[in-house]
Amino acid sequence: MPGACAKHAASAAALFVADGYRAWLSPSAVAKAARLARAAAPLETGGMLLGQVVDGEAHILAVTGPGRKVRLARYTFESDRVRDNRLVRRVWPRLRYLGDWHTHPGGRPVLSAMDLASIRETLTQETPALLELLLAGPPGMDFFEAALFTVVLGEDTPRRMTGGGA
Ligand SMILES: [Zn+2]
Repeated sequence: MPGACAKHAASAAALFVADGYRAWLSPSAVAKAARLARAAAPLETGGMLLGQVVDGEAHILAVTGPGRKVRLARYTFESDRVRDNRLVRRVWPRLRYLGDWHTHPGGRPVLSAMDLASIRETLTQETPALLELLLAGPPGMDFFEAALFTVVLGEDTPRRMTGGGA
């Protein structure tokens, strides 16, 4: 049961809230993102946030790493969306795409204008809101701050979600 699975994961997950938007971030998803962040540092990396939506609340249960054709550079990160979507359907048939995550090694936990522009390109009437998880820390990413945002179609400013149980 997807519902039972999400409920179980939520028991240890951190809740992030922005107005009516609620998202649970599982510790295992954060741990994997942190591992990928350290491996790629001082370059940026990222991938997708996967999970389930239960009673209108997003449960982030897994993250993916960068796609094969990914372009890694100090300040730009671009994923291979077509490959990503194929991968989700094959490997995680019960999970859906909730948004993306990426890192700012040696940077701040705020979305850049470029970040925001690329997230906005992904928003459609079918997916009018997406999550973006940002891990920011020193160049080596030995530690980091996790910031979660909801970006909503037609809104100028991303909603920074508060919480996380820090
Ligand atoms: Zn960024």
